[in-house]
Amino acid sequence: MSKLEKREAECRKHMKESTQIEQVATPVLSFPPNKNFPCMANVLDVQSNEEYGKYIVTKRDIEIGEIVMVEEGYVFDISSSEETSCITCLQSQKNLIPCDNCTDVMFCDHQCMETNENHKIGCGASYNRLHVCRMVIDSILKAVNAFANANDLNKFVECALATREFDSPTCNSREQKEYRSFLKLLAITETLDSVMAMNMVATQYHILSRLSAVKKLFDSEEKQRFLMHLILQHYSIIKRNSLGIHSESNIENQSNVIEIMPIHFSLFNHSCSPNIKYVKIGNKLVAFTVLPVKKGDQLFIQYIKELDNLETKERRDILRETFQFECKCSKCLPCVKVQDSLRMQLDPDFLFIHASRQTHFLDPEKRLILKDKAKRFLKRYNQFKWSDEIEWVSDGFSNCVKKDLGSN
Ligand SMILES: [Zn+2]
Ligand SMILES: [Zn+2]
Ligand SMILES: [Zn+2]
Repeated sequence: MSKLEKREAECRKHMKESTQIEQVATPVLSFPPNKNFPCMANVLDVQSNEEYGKYIVTKRDIEIGEIVMVEEGYVFDISSSEETSCITCLQSQKNLIPCDNCTDVMFCDHQCMETNENHKIGCGASYNRLHVCRMVIDSILKAVNAFANANDLNKFVECALATREFDSPTCNSREQKEYRSFLKLLAITETLDSVMAMNMVATQYHILSRLSAVKKLFDSEEKQRFLMHLILQHYSIIKRNSLGIHSESNIENQSNVIEIMPIHFSLFNHSCSPNIKYVKIGNKLVAFTVLPVKKGDQLFIQYIKELDNLETKERRDILRETFQFECKCSKCLPCVKVQDSLRMQLDPDFLFIHASRQTHFLDPEKRLILKDKAKRFLKRYNQFKWSDEIEWVSDGFSNCVKKDLGSN
């Protein structure tokens, strides 16, 4: 055996031995799963009205700290961290293995490599490093994978967009059911004829139409026109619903932003004083309550984390520009009086929580005490949201839960 081959065999053996997937705790719902949407707890319900479109409410009172949704991202963009994350399950670890046929992506192991149907079609097309593009192309490949031919896909899309109901019992497979829910999400409308959107669609069409599986499916001019429309539709849905999540990288503690586009998670509306917070564990988003919720209350998340430190006007401007709505949450239109704020600030539980600022570094026992005090405080003063004090305590509570779930 030549020296080089020997060396390769040694490396391969070493790789196998030292490839250890980081043990990430599997987060589970605090309630049994919802019959129609197993990723969410059965205490939640999807409703819709004129003001909010589709939204999520609770069917009973919920305490704080309960996990109400655990959902895998439908598509994601790891273009800023492709060296450190598996393209299939988003777990980061030090010893990833590259694809056998391209230099574009990495996997945890052969199982993640084998189960990635999208990459089997898209391998070699070098789109994985194109920001945003990647998510649109992946979502199109998911659609292509779920149908036998372009006509079936076309009919399915038209039917899904023409009906009002979010849930439909008529889908043939889990993939089709999921895809239908994706199509039913709110889409950005105002950017559709911008030059940037058109360029985006042209690039994505160019990449997709060179993949043999796609070429075979869209083999006439009419079908290709449909594909272009579909790309635009996917682009506007993803633009409206994807979430940017900061995560620590294993390598040199760089901070990466991973864009995730979930489906049912996207039904949470926005509030600048949310009663739900979330954390990314692997490729899953985990949502938990950070304020007590009453039966019939709507559940809200905060779409952009960085909004916290902005003035009201600035915050509302960003929300209007990015998501095309006027925020009327209790932080944007507050009504708490000075004497109520003072009362909260003098509460012994508040003083304790305020004194333990570094909640991230508390040991599990101290986190338990802090969480109990926060629960008591938030129950007592729940009517004063939004206020600085409620936000402060709710944030402290949320940091403890994130730490409990194993997030950085
Ligand atoms: Zn993986
Ligand atoms: Zn590849
Ligand atoms: Zn607001």
